[in-house]
Amino acid sequence: MPFAKTGGLGDVASALPKALRAVGDVDASLVLPLYEQTDRGLLRERLFDDLAVEWMGGTRRAAVWYSEAIGAPTFLIDAPEYFARPSVYGFRDDHERFAFFCRAALALLRRLGAPPDVVHGNDWPSGFAMAELKARRGGGGDAYYARTRTLFSIHNLAYQGAFDPGSLAALGFAYGEVHDAFLAEGAASALKAGLMLADMLSTVSRRYAYEIQTREQGYGLDWLLRMRRDRLVGITNGVDYDVWNPATDPHIAAHFTAEDLAGKLECKRDLLRRFSLPEDLERPVIAIISRLVAQKGYDLIQQVAGRVLETGAFFVALGAGAQQYEDFLQALRDHAPHRVGIYKGYAGEALAHQIEAGADIFLMPSLYEPCGLNQMYSMRYGTVPVVRATGGLDDTVENFDRARGTGNGFKFQAYSADALLGSIYEALYCYAEPEIWRRIQVNGMRADNSWQAAARKYVELYQLVART
Ligand code: ADP
Repeated sequence: MPFAKTGGLGDVASALPKALRAVGDVDASLVLPLYEQTDRGLLRERLFDDLAVEWMGGTRRAAVWYSEAIGAPTFLIDAPEYFARPSVYGFRDDHERFAFFCRAALALLRRLGAPPDVVHGNDWPSGFAMAELKARRGGGGDAYYARTRTLFSIHNLAYQGAFDPGSLAALGFAYGEVHDAFLAEGAASALKAGLMLADMLSTVSRRYAYEIQTREQGYGLDWLLRMRRDRLVGITNGVDYDVWNPATDPHIAAHFTAEDLAGKLECKRDLLRRFSLPEDLERPVIAIISRLVAQKGYDLIQQVAGRVLETGAFFVALGAGAQQYEDFLQALRDHAPHRVGIYKGYAGEALAHQIEAGADIFLMPSLYEPCGLNQMYSMRYGTVPVVRATGGLDDTVENFDRARGTGNGFKFQAYSADALLGSIYEALYCYAEPEIWRRIQVNGMRADNSWQAAARKYVELYQLVART
């Protein structure tokens, strides 16, 4: 995603509109805030500088920029007081920032003059738009949006956009059904409002759609998801193979394909160099790229790291997030500087591609994983994923079966260090047998996780919701 990204949603937001246009008759556009991180060179023109947004009892003006950098029309709401900040999320007024964004997005859709059939909101920041469209359709009515329906997609149920319910009135949700939809155990939750009020719900894998209806993974909202399960669909994210393709990737040292993997060894050499590790190409490189949060299974990584290094493998990690995990990575590197390469922080696109291309094994021992993209990127790059069988990881990775030669990775069930270590050992045994390894790599490289199939399912869903 060229405009802004903290994780998988960034990739989805840029790939889906393009894929929708490619598969059929969907006039899909993207609306997002203009963040400080957004490269201004991607913007084509300033469409409006006076978009009037009803806000906190008055009218505020915002500018709107237009771009086609992702292959679909994109509108960026320019409100510097809310979005010219050093990061995308993480501020005390996040609820106000995204409530404003939603209000401005709806003002923009009105200004554009053609009411959309479907407004598709992603994660809690768009919960305000789901609520507002519901409010406008009810009671007093708003003819402009009378036929607009809503789809709300959950990319991660753990992030709920909670805030003080005392702010609801100021944000324009003063009373009634719409106000109440925000209330969740003494707080206001933009996620809950979206889940209550959207016409249709989706999440990013079938397995996760099921898991979030359970107490263990429902984050207090499983009852609501069970209640609305006839409106809830799981659609696994695709991979943008224009961006993630080892045969054409501009970021990597050499190109390769399932038919000719020679270039991958060059990428491994390049990766070892980048991390100042010895160019010992025989040793496996075990890699991880993820936000440094408990969700990603970093406590398991911490428990197994010593044992993994004892096997003689290299370990390469890219990640930004919790201090405790950054400290752990630094200590590991200090302990074994010739075996461990780390990059702490958000590295942008290139390094993530270089790691995917150069590594042999990719770890995703997630506690939960709504979809996960890196396991699919890994497979495309001939890097074999070792994953826990949860959410999208369970849906997209098939355990390697030696007898039949099927499968594209290694999968374990229990959330435990032993289970993870068992799968890593299994992978390393296979790595030691080049023919077997080649088989697993090629199985993964040939897996079709393109957006095309997913985009078709979204089209069906839009058609369904538009008729409700
Ligand atoms: P999540 O959305 O939970 O973060 P995903 O696996 O769905 O996990 O997507 C993660 C995306 O973010 C991938 O494109 C990955 O390469 C990228 N990413 C994660 N951490 C970093 C980082 N520190 N630097 C660069 N890219 C990162």
